Order: sequence, then structure tokens, then C-alpha cells
Amino acid sequence: MSELFDQLKTKLDRSVALSAALALFEWDAETLAPEEAADHTGKVIGILSEDYFKSLINPEVKSLLGRLEQEENYAKLTLEQKATIRELRRTYKQLASIPSKEYADFCELANKSSSVWAKAKKNDDFTLFEEYLKRIVDYKKQFASYRVTESSEGNPNALYDVLLSDFEPSLSTKELDEFFELIKEKLVPIIDQVKQKQDEIDDSFNTRTYEIEKQRKFCDFISEYVGFDRKKGVIAESAHPFTTNFHNRDVRMTNHYDENNLISTIFSAIHESGHAIYEMQIRDDLTLSLIGGGASMAVHESQSRFYENMIGKTKAFWEPIFESLKETYSKQLADVSLDQFIRAINKSMPGYIRTDADELTYPIHILIRYELEKELFSDQITVHELPKAWKKKYKEYLGLQPKTDTLGVLQDIHWSSGDFGYFPSYAIGSAIAAQIYYFMSEHMDFDTLLRGGNLDQIKAYLGEHIHQYGMIYGMNELLFHMTGERFNPEYYVRYLTEKYTNLYGLDA
Ligand code: ZN
Repeated sequence: MSELFDQLKTKLDRSVALSAALALFEWDAETLAPEEAADHTGKVIGILSEDYFKSLINPEVKSLLGRLEQEENYAKLTLEQKATIRELRRTYKQLASIPSKEYADFCELANKSSSVWAKAKKNDDFTLFEEYLKRIVDYKKQFASYRVTESSEGNPNALYDVLLSDFEPSLSTKELDEFFELIKEKLVPIIDQVKQKQDEIDDSFNTRTYEIEKQRKFCDFISEYVGFDRKKGVIAESAHPFTTNFHNRDVRMTNHYDENNLISTIFSAIHESGHAIYEMQIRDDLTLSLIGGGASMAVHESQSRFYENMIGKTKAFWEPIFESLKETYSKQLADVSLDQFIRAINKSMPGYIRTDADELTYPIHILIRYELEKELFSDQITVHELPKAWKKKYKEYLGLQPKTDTLGVLQDIHWSSGDFGYFPSYAIGSAIAAQIYYFMSEHMDFDTLLRGGNLDQIKAYLGEHIHQYGMIYGMNELLFHMTGERFNPEYYVRYLTEKYTNLYGLDA
């Protein structure tokens, strides 16, 4: 046992507790807190956030970290302890590199900027938001510049690479350029072919009126059906679905119910359940520690996407439960067969909005954001030029040009709070899901399991190979341990090509 590590652990326990408290406040703000709570509660959150920052970034922790990194001490640590040191060093690089006054100014700006963004989006007025976004981008460039290493000299994407590493440490613009090149080359032609056949799938039943109370009941059922454990989790309602947790025995997910979009509501429930199952299966000795979360944003997203798409959008999954959905909405779904339902939930149609996108067009929405972020942080375009550049890319890749900025550059909240480099995780997550899917298919017969309503085996397998480890391993290590291969986007392209070639009867 390392005494030095025990000393550090006592300090870290405090920061973990504060972070759980902050997550609880965030959850509450999105679900239950009354309308007028924000200002006063904001003060409480401000104080707790400062305590959280100080509990990690202080001379004692810094000194313990430095000593534990010395070879003779480091060698004595367990695998879990080494991972903790790695994460703490990462946090130090992120937070301690920024002068605290500058960081506080940025947080204040980001807070204001988010509400300005909401107003600009509502009024379809980018000019309202432009100045804020410009300042946010300048701050992020400044922050990233503190962490640029000498080895990246001459690399035009050095700043953006720093931002990317905050979300997926193992991927830089080099790998992502290759990934998105592949997406562009292989998927854009399929999207063009599918566009000609849009009318072949009738999903008009989806916009009939579906009572919210019944949706809630059915979604609760389906969450539990895929493996959400009610004894360790809670499901509530919020404007945008999300999942958070305080530890592995208290995982909170939300859904958003839309009376005229049954499919979106059901698949949000399955998606968030995938996130929740991940958190519930993290090992007891890891939860409530610095490495008690998911391996990375992309790996987390891979689990939600796996449940949503590879499991939830198959016929085998729906065979045992479609009748129950039809009973719930006997009038609305009277004329809808299982086959029609399956085709409808998989229908592909280019649209403006990322969060509404189908599996095939989804990565194109991410590709566009990735290219714009990269250009922004290498000074190829300015914030002022963003709306025009956005429209141009949508026209080029998806064949449609949003008429308003609300449907265009203003649609996502991420940039308003400075989350640049986040978007690629969504597409990478989908690609990891495909890789896992092909690998698992060799070890289990998905069709038989799903037809028999036996999802426990799938959940247990993911728990054993991914979930239990928390953040001990990174994305590539996890994939390598599980499949014998590092991240490989070829599976994703193969998955989407096979799926949509079959669905629309395209020429292979
Ligand atoms: Zn997600």
C-alpha cells in the first residue's frame, strides 16, 4: 500500500464529493427547480464550484502528485492508482494552466453568452450573438495556447488539437481528418442515392397525436426492458434529454416527451438508458473516485448509440414488444405493421437539425461542425463568416441550405459555452458502437437473444468488457482489450453501407 497515495486519496475524496453535489444541483436545475431559483442557487453553485476547484488545484495536492509521479513511488502503485494519477495530471494541465482571474472572467462570459445565444436563436439574429462568440473563441484560443507543446510548432491545428484532447485524449486532427475523409468519400454517395428514394418509406403515422402520459409509461417500460435498474436510477423530464450520476447507485436520466413525435421520444429513452447502464455497471471500488466515470465522451456515446441503433432499431428487438406498443396506442397504430414500423424508425432523410438526424446523415452534421471548428481555430475563417460558411457546407454535403440561422449556425448550444472540440465525440461514438457490434456478433447471436427478450446477456457482456473499468483504460486500450484491434472506422462505414443498401435496395 502506498501511504503517499492514501494521503492524496483523502484530498481527492473531498473533490469527488463536491463534484457529486454540483451534479445534483445541475440535475435539479434541469428537472425540478422552480423558475425563479436560478439567481440565488447560482450563488450557492458558484461557492461550491470554487471549493471544488481549490480542492483539486492547491499546493498540497500538487506536491503529492509530483511525488507520486517520481519513478520509485510510481512503480509501487496499482493499475487503478496509476490511472488516478494520469487523470489528475490531465486535470492539472487543463485547469492549472489558466490564470484564475482569466478563468473566472471566462466563466462569467460563458454564462452570459449562453443566455444571449438562446435569445439570438429565438429571434433568428446571429448579430446579437456574434460579439459574444468572438470573445469566447478568443478566450479558448488563449487557453489552448497555454498548453501547446513545442513539438506542435508549425502545426496549423495545434490549438484545436488541444481542445480535442479535452474530450477524446487519443484523437487529434490527424486521425479525425482521416475519419471524416472516409465518411465523406463513402457515405455522401449513398446519401445521394437514398435521397431519390425518400418517398418509398411511409412514416406519416409518427406525427399523429400520442398522449404524453402513455408515452411516459411506455418509455419507462422500455428503459427497464433494455436494462435500466430502477433501484439505482431515476427517470425525470427535462427540455433536452440527458443523463448524469452521483455514483453507480444513483444515476439520473431524463426524457423529453413530444406529443407528435413518438419515434424521437422512444429512441431518446433507449439512448439515455445506454448512458445510464454504463454508469450503473462501473465497479464499486472505482465509483466516487477520480476515475469513476466513463472512459471518454466518445466511449460513453458509443454505449448509448449501441443500444439506440444496433439494438433498438432492429426487427428482432421489436418482435416481442411491438404488440405492447400497439396496445398502448391502439387507435394511432391500428394500421401500422411491424415491418412498416421498422422501416419508419430507420428512414433516412437529409435535414437541417443534427439532433433529429438519422443514422446515415448524422456523421455529416458532425463533419460540418468539425471542419468549421478547425477553420476557426486555424484562422481560416472568422466568427463573422460562420453563418455563410455553415450554409455553404450544408448545401455541399447534404444538398440543402437552411434559410434561417436558427435552423443553421445557431442550432446547438455547445459553442456558446466554449465547448469546441466536443462534436467529433458524437460521430466517433457511433463508429465505436459499430466496431463493438461486429465484434460481439461473432460471440453472440443477437437475433435470437433479442427475439427472446433476453437483453441481460448483452448488458453483462458490455459490463464485463467496458463498463466495469470506468476510466482505467482509454478508448484504444479498451477496444484493444475487447476486440484485439484499436479504433477502426472501417466498421462504421461498412455498417451504414450494408444497412442502407438493404433498406433501400440500392445497387451495391
Ligand atoms: Zn448521448
